Amino acid sequence: MTEAEIIDGAATAARLRSGLKHDVEAFTVKYGVAPGLAVVLVGEDPASRIYVRRKGEQAGETGLQSFSYKLPVETTQAELLTLIERLNTDSCVHGILVQLPLPKHINTPEVLRAIQPEKDVDGFHVVNAGLLATGQQALTPCTPLGCLTLLRESLPTLRGKRALVLGRSTIVGRPMAQLLLNADCTVTIAHRYSEDLPALCAEADIVVVAVGVPGLVRGAWLKPGCVVIDVGINRVPAIDPEQAAAGKTRIVGDVAFEEARKVASAITPVPGGVGPMTIACLLLNTLTAAQRRMEQTPPLQSEERAREVEGCV
Ligand code: NAP
Repeated sequence: MTEAEIIDGAATAARLRSGLKHDVEAFTVKYGVAPGLAVVLVGEDPASRIYVRRKGEQAGETGLQSFSYKLPVETTQAELLTLIERLNTDSCVHGILVQLPLPKHINTPEVLRAIQPEKDVDGFHVVNAGLLATGQQALTPCTPLGCLTLLRESLPTLRGKRALVLGRSTIVGRPMAQLLLNADCTVTIAHRYSEDLPALCAEADIVVVAVGVPGLVRGAWLKPGCVVIDVGINRVPAIDPEQAAAGKTRIVGDVAFEEARKVASAITPVPGGVGPMTIACLLLNTLTAAQRRMEQTPPLQSEERAREVEGCV
């Protein structure tokens, strides 16, 4: 029995970043200003701090201008909204990302709605969700966009394929299903109340799993030759009992990987599959947002342009 091809998300993300670097350079030469990404972090959540740091580093490596706002946990809703309003009108900032989760006293939907849709590089604004759902040009959530890119690399065509998306969050599952539908797949969305998940999996040529349950999808559920995209990131005890007893952990996905690789034709590993694609797609969305802004803005007089550019450096 042949084993599945392992879809190397880290390698694809590196290729994407390298292409982006070239495109960002061309943008910067053309417009005299680099695409700008503002990342807002409220509070001290350790995982969020790591993500924000990585986003800033990779933005810098790709030639984007990165603006970082680290606010204390006691920041009020009004203070956060004031900052977003300022970033909305800042011509040096083409993309705004507010790192989630926000502290409990903050109304997250209201904050996400406050971001100008054209700068919403996370693609979480209802306007972008609506544009995606109606098949129009949108800024697309980064993780599903990364999954779609990996699928396009693994399959000659998505048209007509039966796709199952396990999970219906607004961050991953729903936009993933919309992207697959827009790519002419026949899409099923499943969630915790769906009956007979194994039967749904057995029909799918493409299985995208984003549930947050370690090893939920078993190899025996899958259709032979299907492509599996595992979005899950779950921290579980280390395999070695001594290490586990000492509190050591490891990261696993939502798919029983060793079983699934014996049935699928291609599968993403965790880590090293979808994860690296998410930040690469954030950088891509920032460049896209900057390009759209520049294309829509009426040509500035050279003096105005000089003033705008001067303010960004
Ligand atoms: P979420 O908001 O908690 O949504 C989970 C979804 O899974 C919900 O729709 C839920 O159904 C469904 N679900 C939960 N248990 C289930 C079960 N036993 N059977 C069927 N469906 C079940 O999570 P999320 O934000 O979408 O993230 C999902 C996973 O992806 C997490 O492990 C997260 O860490 C990971 N993730 C990874 C990346 C990345 O960059 N690689 C990015 C984002 C998220 P209901 O709607 O019925 O509750």
